[in-house]
Amino acid sequence: MKTLNIDVAVIGSGSAGLPAFRAAKAAGASVVLIEGGAYGTTCARVGCMPSKLLIAAAEAAHAARNTAPFGVHVDGGVRIDGREVMARVKRERDRFVGFVVESTESIPAEERLIGYAKFIDDNVLEVGDHTRVHAKSIVIATGSSPYVPAMYQALGERAVVNDDVFAWDDLPRKVAVVGAGVIGLELGQALAWLGVDVTMLGARGRVGPLSDPAIKDYARRVFSDSFRFEANAQVEAATREGDSVHLRYRDSAGNLRDDTFDYVVVTAGRRPNMDKLALHNTTLELDARGVPVFDPVTLQAGNHAVFIAGDANNVLPLLHEAADEGRMAGHNAAQYRNASPALAPLVRRAPISLVFSEPGIAMVGARHADLAAGSFVTGEVSFEDQGRSRVMLRNRGLMHVYVDAASRRFVGAEWIGPDAEHIAHLLSWALQMNLTVDAMLAMPFYHPVVEEGLRTALRNAAAQLTAA
Ligand SMILES: Cc1cc2nc3c(=O)[nH]c(=O)nc-3n(C[C@H](O)[C@H](O)[C@H](O)COP(=O)(O)OP(=O)(O)OC[C@H]3O[C@@H](n4cnc5c(N)ncnc54)[C@H](O)[C@@H]3O)c2cc1C
Repeated sequence: MKTLNIDVAVIGSGSAGLPAFRAAKAAGASVVLIEGGAYGTTCARVGCMPSKLLIAAAEAAHAARNTAPFGVHVDGGVRIDGREVMARVKRERDRFVGFVVESTESIPAEERLIGYAKFIDDNVLEVGDHTRVHAKSIVIATGSSPYVPAMYQALGERAVVNDDVFAWDDLPRKVAVVGAGVIGLELGQALAWLGVDVTMLGARGRVGPLSDPAIKDYARRVFSDSFRFEANAQVEAATREGDSVHLRYRDSAGNLRDDTFDYVVVTAGRRPNMDKLALHNTTLELDARGVPVFDPVTLQAGNHAVFIAGDANNVLPLLHEAADEGRMAGHNAAQYRNASPALAPLVRRAPISLVFSEPGIAMVGARHADLAAGSFVTGEVSFEDQGRSRVMLRNRGLMHVYVDAASRRFVGAEWIGPDAEHIAHLLSWALQMNLTVDAMLAMPFYHPVVEEGLRTALRNAAAQLTAA
């Protein structure tokens, strides 16, 4: 067993670990990057990128099927070749992964260790069975893994998660998607538009991250046009029948249903990867999920020289948040080279989250559920009669913008609608600049654009404030 003495050890070479490594180095520390799995990151390998590639194919199919209202006829059917679809998803995905692997492997070999890290004590790690790392500080950036309830684990390879979907060589005929979170909705709609018979079994009426009841209801209706959507389902039994899976579930109306699927795609949430870390060997305080209790501002676990970033801490499991957290964790970990480390706070950007469905779901700033009743007004726009949206025949959507009643500042928005990913950026920038609804309305709006819908919602909020 080799021994390595180092300032900072970063566990995990994902979207949080890589920036942590670079930030610690930039701060002047000696650093080692430890990876137990494959280089390339979850985002590029089995997350953001392959999901968007699958969605792009689905959108092409959907557009091709829906040309007739424009007087444009695709004579003959639209044929989807599942093998070609999956081949492109994997080919392009591998290209993205290749860039990340290349960049990771450009880190000098002596600064990288291959193998899973486990804690021996608060400052000592064992990597694989070959190296003991004595570190002044440690960044845990181990990411997360799909949670598969026991009921589905018993189905063997017929219960799949996102990683498996992106490894398919062909598209299946019929699937159940269990869980209507962001990943479930994205995969469910994409598979449905690619001709797969999809049943989505959600729980507690959840529709992605939405918390505004009116927007949630609208979104539920939209998705019900793409696939059978049981937002309030209860699965009572899951059994393997040869190469199929039989599910018995109560639908949203409480009726008992039986159905058979090729696969169950389990999108029931993700759990931080703590299992291989042997945290019981440390004096770190752990929460109920076994994750070290940490300060979300400095990312420090208690007053230990341990920092936790990215999906591993499960605060905001998004790529840009993982990168920001990684940078800050790496920077702060490097301060432990000094006798009295001065930690910097993580200044978070305005909250933004998206579901890459069509129409898209977006949330910016405060969630509706977190706003104090009576403290805000809600400006609304329906995209059904919105000029540009109707021109493009993408006129489905409902937006709510929330404006603080006292300061007239924009505080948040939830919606489903066309071009949501772009409007979400405008709104998150406005939020981060602390703009009032009046300052936002003083900005330019070209004509005819979907953003004119946003202007209607803002005007609606401003009028309510003026009338009050
Ligand atoms: C299907 C899907 C779609 C997504 N789409 C989006 C999107 O559109 N936009 C967005 O912002 N986010 C999206 N995300 C979320 C995003 O991918 C994650 O937030 C991000 O990848 C988290 O990065 P990370 O560094 O925390 O984890 P990872 O990139 O998973 O890195 C963790 C690394 O740690 C390694 N590791 C674990 N344990 C150990 C150990 N004990 N020792 C050594 N190494 C270890 C793992 O092998 C892994 O390489 C998506 C996720 C999924 C699953």
